[in-house]
Amino acid sequence: MKRYQKNNKKQIIFRVSVAVLLVGICAITLGLILPRMNLSTKQVASGTPSVAVSSTALSSGPESKPVQKPVSITILGAGDNLIHDVIYQQAQKRAGGSGYDFKPVYERVANVIKSADISVINQETPLAGKIAAPSGYPRFNSPTQVGDELINLGFDVINHANNHVLDMGEKGLAATLDYWDTKPSVKVVGAYRNDADLQNIRIVESKGIKTAHIGITEMTNGLYLPKNSNYRLIYADNTALIEKLIKKAKTMADVVVISVHWGNENTYTLTEKQKNLAQNMVDWGADIIFGNHPHVVQQLTVLTRKDGTKCPVIFALGNFVSAQQSGQNMISGLLTVTMTKDFTTNKTTFTTMQFKPIVTHYGKRCADITVYPLSEYTDALAAVHGVRKYTPNFSLKYINDIINKNIPQKYLSKD
Ligand SMILES: [Zn+2]
Repeated sequence: MKRYQKNNKKQIIFRVSVAVLLVGICAITLGLILPRMNLSTKQVASGTPSVAVSSTALSSGPESKPVQKPVSITILGAGDNLIHDVIYQQAQKRAGGSGYDFKPVYERVANVIKSADISVINQETPLAGKIAAPSGYPRFNSPTQVGDELINLGFDVINHANNHVLDMGEKGLAATLDYWDTKPSVKVVGAYRNDADLQNIRIVESKGIKTAHIGITEMTNGLYLPKNSNYRLIYADNTALIEKLIKKAKTMADVVVISVHWGNENTYTLTEKQKNLAQNMVDWGADIIFGNHPHVVQQLTVLTRKDGTKCPVIFALGNFVSAQQSGQNMISGLLTVTMTKDFTTNKTTFTTMQFKPIVTHYGKRCADITVYPLSEYTDALAAVHGVRKYTPNFSLKYINDIINKNIPQKYLSKD
């Protein structure tokens, strides 16, 4: 009995051991198989064929990791596109009475704008042809064909934050934005449909570099949106909003570009407001500032952020075009800034810039208004410029003296 029990016990121990061994083998086998099964499930789920395992292994090797070289883009800023009545009257005449032909005004500088990766301009006048006839100073309204021509020239960003944005009232602003809505290839900044539209920072990407754009104005000529209006402008004294928007833009893009309308007209002296806002915007994260409004070329400089980042600032680019009546208002420039992205550090920095001077030319009584690169302008042309009626000493020397006073030689285009 005892022996039987003993034998029986032995047998039980043997059976239990076998069972434990079997369970162990099963567990080990499952342990080896399951992860592979999981892997193949992932591969199927992600649509990757099983050979992807070896390619993954290859690509994780240090020598096969692709190193992306630094990439540069150019960002161009243009001045005030100030469409006086004679400019659209001449364009209408050229078109033979139906429509407007603005092409000859700008064609001599078109290649400079087209060659930049991203181009920004201040459209000084509303494009509200839908609600009112065209008009000149003091309450401007320009034909929408002006906008068509800016697109033909290659502009990507149109700023409407300026003192004339409300010349045609809230309805004029609405009509202007309605027109731009039909042109999705360009981004409009500085005038917004509502709060959400204002918060929707415009991004333009080129060669893998994202640029964010914001438009700000110091004044709107004493005209304001109705109190209950949904439309929004960014005024220069609303520094809390500007700081918030620039900081937000910085999280969305590699380069933050500001179009700002500020300062006093017809002076080379900067206001304290301009100087303070420029440095503040740079400190908040602005990388490039294109200033406008004074109708003359104000200084080009480089401001430094607290972390050492260099930021180009032109306080005023002058009039891209106008029919103003002083020699200094005929002088402007196209500023092309080169920004370079290092994909290993993910930082985009200012590399260099070039200011190409341009001259608005017209004959007697503002005839045939045309924009010239200074490099193609001559003393013979200056001698017959209609502006000599008001500025008798208008000449290449007069132009160069103003340019040299405000633009450092190293940034001046030599061609
Ligand atoms: Zn202005």
